[in-house]
Amino acid sequence: MKITKRTIDLESGVEGPRHDPYSYEEYVVEINDKMIVFHSGLDCWLSINGREIPRLYGKRFGVLPYLMFKNMTGIDPNDFVDLYERKYRRCCGPRLEDIPGFPGETLIVCSSCGKVVDTCFNKQAII
Ligand SMILES: [Zn+2]
Repeated sequence: MKITKRTIDLESGVEGPRHDPYSYEEYVVEINDKMIVFHSGLDCWLSINGREIPRLYGKRFGVLPYLMFKNMTGIDPNDFVDLYERKYRRCCGPRLEDIPGFPGETLIVCSSCGKVVDTCFNKQAII
C-alpha cells in the first residue's frame, strides 16, 4: 500500500465506572482515507473509520488489535508514544499549542515560531 498521507495523534482520558475510573490512551492514525484508532485501557480494541473490530478475550486479549494496528499503520503500538513525542519535539519551541481551526479541527502550533506542526481532527466535536 502506498502511503499518501499519514497523521498521528495521541488522546487520553478516563473510562470505567465513576467510582473506579481507569485511564486509557488512544493511538489515532489517519492513513490515506482510513482513520484507525487503537484503544488501550480497561479494554483494548481497534476501530477503522469508526467501525469496531470484533474483540477477542482471554489469553488473546489485545493481540488482534495490536497486530492489525501494526499491520495497517506500520507503527508498533509499543513504539507509538515515542514516535509521537519525537515528532512533536521536532520544532524549535519548547511547547506546542493547540489552536482551533475549522470545526472539529485542531492546529498544533509551535509556541516559538508559530509554525503549524500538525493538525488533528476530532469527529466527536462536530457530531
Ligand atoms: Zn518552531
